[in-house]
Amino acid sequence: MKILLDKEKLHDGVSRLAQDIETAFEGRHMTIIGVLTGSVVLVADLIRLIDQPMRVGVIQASSYRGATTERGELIINSELMLDITGRDVLLVDDIFDTGHTLERVVDKLHEFEPSSIRSAVLLRKEGRQEVEYEPDFAAFRIPDEFVVGYGLDYEDMYRNLPFLAALEPEDLQKHAEHVSANQLL
Ligand code: 5GP
Ligand code: MG
Repeated sequence: MKILLDKEKLHDGVSRLAQDIETAFEGRHMTIIGVLTGSVVLVADLIRLIDQPMRVGVIQASSYRGATTERGELIINSELMLDITGRDVLLVDDIFDTGHTLERVVDKLHEFEPSSIRSAVLLRKEGRQEVEYEPDFAAFRIPDEFVVGYGLDYEDMYRNLPFLAALEPEDLQKHAEHVSANQLL
């Protein structure tokens, strides 16, 4: 694996992100909504770096399984979400790639009539945006490579890596061998 952001760099970037968010929400009671599952590591770190009153909840957005780079049908499940009506919401996701996911989740949140919605992502991929919607906060810009770790997965694995890495062909090979040896799929 090629490490793009090690533990220290991630911590620095997430600390800066927390600072920017704190400044932007100064004096306002915020409701943080994390997009499952990719944002769980970011949300866990971010909320402990923001020294302000907040509520924390989740929403689920998942694409139908398939090739990692192809976009499947997006399913948004807000059943587990906190009530956000009349609240100042910060939506948190792992990565803004084409932007379709974040745009769709923001549209969904508008149905609940919050007083404001802003969004924060850990990563923004260069040159991939296909929507007009822009995230309000992004900790890092990365090149157009498929990355895993710090919450991001490949076939539901690698989310626990404490660093962010790009998968290389030999990693995909090893992954396939591991999966078939353990009959995981
Ligand atoms: P978008 O809708 O912005 O194209 O893509 C957003 C979703 O695609 C992310 O929430 C994430 O699940 C997935 N995704 C996009 N790029 C990557 C990547 O490089 N690595 C991983 N693990 N997931 C990605
Ligand atoms: Mg995701």
